[in-house]
Amino acid sequence: MNNELKRVAMIAHDGKKAEMVGFFKDYMDILSGIKIVATGTTGSHLVKAGLEVDCKLSGPKGGDAQIAAMVAEGDVDAVFFFRDPLGKHPHEPDVQMLMRVCDMYDVPLATNPASGKLLMAGIRDVFKK
Ligand code: PGA
Repeated sequence: MNNELKRVAMIAHDGKKAEMVGFFKDYMDILSGIKIVATGTTGSHLVKAGLEVDCKLSGPKGGDAQIAAMVAEGDVDAVFFFRDPLGKHPHEPDVQMLMRVCDMYDVPLATNPASGKLLMAGIRDVFKK
């Protein structure tokens, strides 16, 4: 885990996008000063909600792979990826790769709102003293 938190990634499968937007609205204060990168469609929802976001390609078109590359290069310090366990996803190999790369580089990864809440608490306590 990095000592400094500069950038977080946000991704949500379609069935979880509304939940993710609601989730982040609750954490605007913690997110201030932290750069945000997101897959394309998730990012456009977050922009509409008032966040400043670097939007990559849509997930199915390579966005998860782009974010995985950023994690591998040390450019992303935490990942929020709200996954839909009931959906089918054509880019599942990219999703698996992103999760593997997070494990490879010991980058915190929250895959549902409950773990996201705890990760936010960790970000507040560890990085925003
Ligand atoms: P999206 O991608 O934000 O472009 O929909 C998310 C995903 O990986 O499913």
